[in-house]
Amino acid sequence: MSSMIESDELVALRAAVSALGHRHGPGFDRAALWAEAGKLGYLGVNLPEEYGGGGGGMAELSVVLEEAGAAGAPLLMMVVSPAICGTVIARFGTEEQKRAWLPGLADGSLTMAFGITEPDAGSNSHRITTTAERTEDGWVLNGRKVFVSGVDIADATLIVGRTSDARTGSLKPCLFIVPREVPGFQRRHIEMELDANEKQFELTLDDVHLPADALVGDEDAGLLQLFAGLNPERIMTAAFAIGMGRYALAQAVKYAKERQVWKAPIGAHQAIAHPLAQAHIELELARLMMAKAAQLYDAGDDMGAGEAANMAKYAAAEACVRAVDQAVHTLGGNGLTKEFGLARLVTAARVARIAPVSREMILNYVSHQTLGLPKSY
Ligand SMILES: Cc1cc2nc3c(=O)[nH]c(=O)nc-3n(C[C@H](O)[C@H](O)[C@H](O)COP(=O)(O)OP(=O)(O)OC[C@H]3O[C@@H](n4cnc5c(N)ncnc54)[C@H](O)[C@@H]3O)c2cc1C
Repeated sequence: MSSMIESDELVALRAAVSALGHRHGPGFDRAALWAEAGKLGYLGVNLPEEYGGGGGGMAELSVVLEEAGAAGAPLLMMVVSPAICGTVIARFGTEEQKRAWLPGLADGSLTMAFGITEPDAGSNSHRITTTAERTEDGWVLNGRKVFVSGVDIADATLIVGRTSDARTGSLKPCLFIVPREVPGFQRRHIEMELDANEKQFELTLDDVHLPADALVGDEDAGLLQLFAGLNPERIMTAAFAIGMGRYALAQAVKYAKERQVWKAPIGAHQAIAHPLAQAHIELELARLMMAKAAQLYDAGDDMGAGEAANMAKYAAAEACVRAVDQAVHTLGGNGLTKEFGLARLVTAARVARIAPVSREMILNYVSHQTLGLPKSY
């Protein structure tokens, strides 16, 4: 049903993706779902129509990820490939870059990872040291990245590096497309306590030579271009968390209606019912903030979207962590069995609390940017 918040088209998109997600369901084959979602146009709903996309925005893309997750079949790489990389290329890429990448990112035949985190910088991305130096015919990159998702399955990784400003000598952030197999670009799989389809990698860039057109966007635009990609990343992390939270909650509600150890099903006990109701409310509230962030972003309000996207990511991650915790508890011993598959979500839910920006860094952002409180760092 159409509502003030969602158009008829968005409601229909939700239903279609939900049906696809349920057809694949938990234990899904990531590559198969990715290919099918791409073919159906879901992966590129946010990308421009002239490059094979759906011509929509983050409102549509976030709904796709949320519904796939709610069906137990989340596609983590949607957070980076169409949302960050697709957005940055669509907004700031050259005509050649758009033609080379956008149709593939939209139909899923190409995937792009995104690398900003560094071992010695972490939450402080102002401290990143991966450097790009100009050569006669292009660039040479040196540096390290950590926790970058999906580098093995991505055709390229969009790497955040820095170039030195000719005038001031200070370093400014720039984005480079680094193909998966290029000399000097090495990856090491980091073993995570996560039962997920996508792997995380530590990356080494050791004199990686790239052509001039590896740079996306203007060398001098710096942070502006980066933030254009990071707001979609936060909105999509919110979608990922809300989807997972909804999936866990639905399993718990189903179980609570059926499981009976006294006179009535366990869901009749308020100690079980109320925390589930609370989880539902918190997920709904997070979803509302996600819709607001997507609306602001799609309307071109990057500043307004920044605050809302951070708040949506925060609210969604907290709601997801609590929903998963309560879902596991609702199933009693079964909450910890492989058969019911909920315990594995305990660590997965925590990802949204720490990445791509931690809970504390969002609280810092709101403290400083929204409330005007002084900074401690
Ligand atoms: C599964 C997974 C996938 C990921 N995928 C990617 C990816 O694809 N690409 C990519 O670039 N990165 C990725 N990351 C990295 C992620 O973005 C970082 O882990 C995150 O930004 C936090 O950085 P850190 O791990 O270095 O933690 P740190 O920065 O070391 O922080 C550690 C703790 O200290 C707190 N803290 C730090 N500074 C402050 C402060 N000023 N005030 C209060 N508290 C503070 C943090 O909130 C956190 O709790 C991924 C991470 C995970 C776990």
